[in-house]
Amino acid sequence: MLDYRTLLISLGVSTLCLLVTLFATWLGRRGDGFLLTWVVGLAWLVVAIFGYSYYTEYPSNFILGISFATMLVGFAIIYAAAFQFRTDRSPVRRAGVASLLSLVLTLSPIAIGYDGIGFVLLNLSCAVMLFGTALEYLRGRQEAPGALVGMAVLYALTGLSFVLCAVVIAADGQWVLGQAPENFAEAINTAVSIAGMTGVGAMSLMVHQARITARHRREAITDALTGLYNRRALFELHQRDLFTDEMAVIVFDIDRFKAVNDQYGHAVGDEVIRCLAEDLKDAVGLSTAARLGGEEFAAVLRSAAPGYAEWLAERIRRNFAERELSAGDARFRVTVSAGIAYGFTEGRDFDGILNAADAALYEAKRNGRNRVHRVVEHALEGSRTTA
Ligand code: GH3
Ligand code: MG
Ligand code: MG
Repeated sequence: MLDYRTLLISLGVSTLCLLVTLFATWLGRRGDGFLLTWVVGLAWLVVAIFGYSYYTEYPSNFILGISFATMLVGFAIIYAAAFQFRTDRSPVRRAGVASLLSLVLTLSPIAIGYDGIGFVLLNLSCAVMLFGTALEYLRGRQEAPGALVGMAVLYALTGLSFVLCAVVIAADGQWVLGQAPENFAEAINTAVSIAGMTGVGAMSLMVHQARITARHRREAITDALTGLYNRRALFELHQRDLFTDEMAVIVFDIDRFKAVNDQYGHAVGDEVIRCLAEDLKDAVGLSTAARLGGEEFAAVLRSAAPGYAEWLAERIRRNFAERELSAGDARFRVTVSAGIAYGFTEGRDFDGILNAADAALYEAKRNGRNRVHRVVEHALEGSRTTA
């Protein structure tokens, strides 16, 4: 049977291994700040574990205080890393508050000689922070459900083993111990922690991989200049749709855009493209807005009351035309044309409706630009210009 100190040393080594793994992962992609926070938390835990291991051999209140304090700060930072993972916000405040509360709670009884109470409160504080960590991963689980729920379970189980330690010491009623408590709960706690550390390490890599995959996927369907969907995403989203008569597609093309580039430069041209993209993002009722390429955009309306697509396109056209743009000292305005096509009662494929909207756009351009045009097909023959 392994003795308690050997278990503790194994825990220290497995914590160190997890630290090195996460640090190497973070080095590979420095954008993920939560990994670094996590590494910092683990570093405190490594000190705590070896410090406590020393205390089991040479007990003193000073060493106990040091190992308790480093352990609490370590768990507080690990909790804050989970918060940072879920929210992408700074972990500093959470880590600070959790550390401070648990330190005051745990170290006060040790300072006045009641180390037994200190042990109970240490275990409970660690448990609360581990449950908090579990909750953060559970709340952020949609990113990689299997691995994140797994991690949450491991943190919660480790938290429970800390509760068990607190219960066993409290049940004994020994408020002054003078040495490390050795009982079945402590052994279980250390064993569960070793298993948890290993499992969490493996799953953290899965989570990291899922993040990278999701990021690549997002980049593949996003237009880099505007943040809208790109052409590929538009087709992926709607290729298999059947467009009924309450669905519509609007295509936009900025008027005489070459002249904007020629006169003010490509960077200003880009700004103009971004400007229209922002208008499309803000427009209410668009299911999808995408940049088709260059200064051309497409928008899909999944449910449009009769005339709504025309009203919306006209509003976007007018707003855009009225906006004063600037390049250095120069002030100028740019206009946009739009073409609209509705689906059919019996359904219409995406290529068909997009081509029809393109044809309407061509008509808008032919009729002088800065206007919205809709081709009325199928039931009604002919065409109608709405602006
Ligand atoms: P029209 O009114 O007929 O649409 O005239 P136009 O000048 O806008 O003609 P066209 O649509 O053919 O011109 C598109 C121009 O957009 C040509 C190209 O130089 C420019 N362009 C394409 N992509 C970008 C881009 O990402 N940034 C900038 N600044 N210009 C682009
Ligand atoms: Mg064009
Ligand atoms: Mg154009």
